[in-house]
Amino acid sequence: MPNFQTATVIKNEVLAAKFHDLVLQTETPFSFLPGQFVSIKINETKMNAYSVAGKLNDKQFGLLIDTEPGGLGSQYIDKLKPGDKVEFMGPLGHMTLKLDDGATNLYFMSTGCGIAPLKAMIEAALVEYKTDKQLTLYLGLRHCNDVFWDQYFNDLQNRFTNFHFKLVLSKPEGAWCGVAGHITDLAKVEVKDPANSSVYICGSVRMADEAIKVFEEMGT
Ligand SMILES: Cc1cc2nc3c(=O)[nH]c(=O)nc-3n(C[C@H](O)[C@H](O)[C@H](O)COP(=O)(O)OP(=O)(O)OC[C@H]3O[C@@H](n4cnc5c(N)ncnc54)[C@H](O)[C@@H]3O)c2cc1C
Repeated sequence: MPNFQTATVIKNEVLAAKFHDLVLQTETPFSFLPGQFVSIKINETKMNAYSVAGKLNDKQFGLLIDTEPGGLGSQYIDKLKPGDKVEFMGPLGHMTLKLDDGATNLYFMSTGCGIAPLKAMIEAALVEYKTDKQLTLYLGLRHCNDVFWDQYFNDLQNRFTNFHFKLVLSKPEGAWCGVAGHITDLAKVEVKDPANSSVYICGSVRMADEAIKVFEEMGT
């Protein structure tokens, strides 16, 4: 029998487009390694993986869920409201933050909801472990209406001089005065000292393939 835990929905707020900020509260303290995910029971035959986006307190954690795919999991998440109970397994997964790997620069490449596990890693590195390594987050979204957490990461950038945030839109509309294009193109010209860098990648398969190629060619 799978070992399910029960959590209560504290918040289910749409941040932008179909990106949901879902906060769950567990019955007993919940601990995870930054980068891990939980597997939520959608129905008797379907479980969906969602990365932990951050810790609010010992019993509360956040998920960032894009319901754009529109499948059964997306429909389930769309309907959740405060007070609802969800069953989940976890934390699970091995893509975790490794601050002791010798790298002096950490690059985080994300598109869409791929930002979720990287946010948890960045928060842990800066706030919990107080790292003095250079951390750079690239976040790729499509449209102006998709933008979320930009204020949060800009504030984090102001608070920590070793954290740098780059938001890039691939299909911006007229009023956008930020960077347009693909995060991999920007990283290609901006990455410093690639041989002493580590890169964490999460998002679309296309971006991930391109990011691996770009960083490998630079010698990371
Ligand atoms: C380790 C792991 C961590 C994950 N973390 C997150 C997370 O933090 N936030 C999050 O929103 N999702 C995350 N996902 C994806 C999530 O588990 C679901 O696969 C996704 O939300 C679609 O679920 P669904 O039930 O709505 O669609 P499904 O019924 O599974 O699929 C419906 C349709 O959408 C397509 N589809 C499936 N997944 C995607 C996708 N990601 N983008 C576009 N189309 C898709 C399918 O091909 C299908 O046509 C993660 C997946 C894994 C494996």
